[in-house]
Amino acid sequence: MDRKLPDMDISGWICHKCQSPLTVFQVNVTYMGASFEVELPGCAKCGVTMIPEILAFGKMLDVEKLLEDK
Ligand SMILES: [Zn+2]
Repeated sequence: MDRKLPDMDISGWICHKCQSPLTVFQVNVTYMGASFEVELPGCAKCGVTMIPEILAFGKMLDVEKLLEDK
């Protein structure tokens, strides 16, 4: 059984709107007064940015923790 955690392998992801394959964008996200550069899958054609649920809040908290540790 493959227990690999889901990561940002977006091959095979397609845009719900225009059915184009998604690409990864660097996006600035502001959270709790701090801004982060994160990579999010998005559609180059219609500009939709997907925010996977695992990234939406839990991951952002992890990012914040990492920054605090440094
Ligand atoms: Zn699209």
